[in-house]
Amino acid sequence: MSETLPLFRYHPDPISSGSLEPSSGACACCGRARGWLYTGPVFSADEQHGSVCPWCIADGSAHRDLGLEFADPAGVGGYGLWPSVAEEIVACVVQRTPCFSGWQQERWLTCCGEAAAFIGRAGQRELLAHGSEAIESIRAESGMSGTDWRDYLAALDADGSPTAYLFRCLHCGRVGGYSDCD
Ligand SMILES: [Zn+2]
Ligand SMILES: [Zn+2]
Repeated sequence: MSETLPLFRYHPDPISSGSLEPSSGACACCGRARGWLYTGPVFSADEQHGSVCPWCIADGSAHRDLGLEFADPAGVGGYGLWPSVAEEIVACVVQRTPCFSGWQQERWLTCCGEAAAFIGRAGQRELLAHGSEAIESIRAESGMSGTDWRDYLAALDADGSPTAYLFRCLHCGRVGGYSDCD
C-alpha cells in the first residue's frame, strides 16, 4: 500500500465513511491489486461487475471502460430538493466520485452552485457536534417538529437506523444534508 490514495473533491475521506476498504483483491478495471477497493453503491448494466479501485474511480476509467456509475444523476441535488448544479459537476459525482451507502437511494447535497463534500453518517451525538445549522438542515428535510423531531433526533444513529448523512459546502462551509431509515 505505497500508493497515495487519490483525492476526491466531493468525498474527502472515503476510508472513514467506509466506502473504501483495504483489500488484497484485484481491481475489475485495471486488474491490479493496489491495496484498496471501493465498497459503496454501483449502478451498472452488468450485475456481475467486480469491485474497482479508487484510482480507477478517480481517473474516470471505471466509468469509461466498465460503464459504472456511483450515484443516480438525479440524486445530485436530492431529486429537486436542493439547487441543481452544472452537468459537469453532476458527472464528476456520478462518474468519478466514490459514493456512500445509504438506507434508501443516496442523495447528494448541493450548495452555492456546486455539489457539497460528503463528510459522513451522523447520529444524534455527531449531529449535535456540528451545531445548530446542521441540526436545522436535517430537521427541515425530515419535515418534523416538536416532540416528533426530538424523538427522531434522539433515535438518529451513525451506524444504525435512522441515520443522517452530512455534507459540507465547499464554498460557504455550511453543514447540512438529510436522513433516512431502513
Ligand atoms: Zn483499478
Ligand atoms: Zn454553500
